[in-house]
Amino acid sequence: MLIVMNLNATEEQVASVRDKAKENQCSSHIIYGDSKIAIGITGETRNLSTDDFILMDGVVDAMRVSKKFKLCSREMKAEDTVIDFDGDKIGDGSLQIIAGPCSVESRDQLFDIAGQLKEMGIKFFRAGAYKPRSSPYAFQGMKEKGLELLAEVKKEFGLHIVTEAKDTETLPQVIEVADIIQIGARNMQNYSLLEKVGQTQKAIFLKRGMAASIEDLLMSAEYILSQGNFNVILCERGIKTFETWTRNTLDLNAIPVLKKQTHLPIFVDPSHGIGIRDKVAPMAMAGVACGADGLMIEVHHNPDKALSDGVQSLTPTQFKALLDKIKQLAPIVDKIF
Ligand code: PEP
Ligand code: MN
Repeated sequence: MLIVMNLNATEEQVASVRDKAKENQCSSHIIYGDSKIAIGITGETRNLSTDDFILMDGVVDAMRVSKKFKLCSREMKAEDTVIDFDGDKIGDGSLQIIAGPCSVESRDQLFDIAGQLKEMGIKFFRAGAYKPRSSPYAFQGMKEKGLELLAEVKKEFGLHIVTEAKDTETLPQVIEVADIIQIGARNMQNYSLLEKVGQTQKAIFLKRGMAASIEDLLMSAEYILSQGNFNVILCERGIKTFETWTRNTLDLNAIPVLKKQTHLPIFVDPSHGIGIRDKVAPMAMAGVACGADGLMIEVHHNPDKALSDGVQSLTPTQFKALLDKIKQLAPIVDKIF
């Protein structure tokens, strides 16, 4: 249920609405908009009636939210969610690029790539320290040592760090270092992990599961928001189809569909989406063209020697050429870059 209140409603008026939700064993979530305060009421709302709220002081309107996903819907919050990282914003109409290697491999590797990306104006650096791999025999990441190296990169270059949390056990260590916690495709429906990251106020980068529908992705986001964390970025990274000539099928349909349904920022990851180095750039351009708020791209200084996802990683030179093209495209789709 959505309760709309005047922007100048008093704290007591807001508290009374929240108390009424609590009396009925429901949770309430305040969403401050430009022109109103919205209070999302979730839980067993069947016993509540909109009439219970509509006559309360400060309340302008009360309505049921028809969608299965509530807090991430545009019904609940019409304005785009903007996440601010010390002045570098995601979701504000700018196009942001998260770039870096698939995995942390060594100090030299990380510093080499981070240094080059920083020179190119990149603000968000990615690299996995914990790697959930399809094979137990594949490189599983440098784990805690990898996180230490990412902390060094952050200090040296002032880049915002994006790194994956693989499980609830190692989440506390990831929280220490990450500015954005990535939840990978394989964990999109790990509800314990979603609830745990929902109890933080860190930005969460939620990747679409490889066999997950758009609605499944939104319902997973809802797990995070329902715990009180609205700092969620969604990412389309390709789904499994019958196609065998590409690693995945990048579902670009999802971008305009999601933009309409949710206020959360949407990214496209063409690296995992197509999985072939020389085809990453056209799909990155396509992602921008269809309205993404940003891209996640794997870049490696020596992709042929990478310990994971080398075949889809761009060299810094290829990445720089792509950025030059994106610069021309972004203004055509009203994105600041
Ligand atoms: C990654 O970003 O390196 C990764 C493992 O992504 P995904 O979870 O989308 O496969
Ligand atoms: Mn990868």
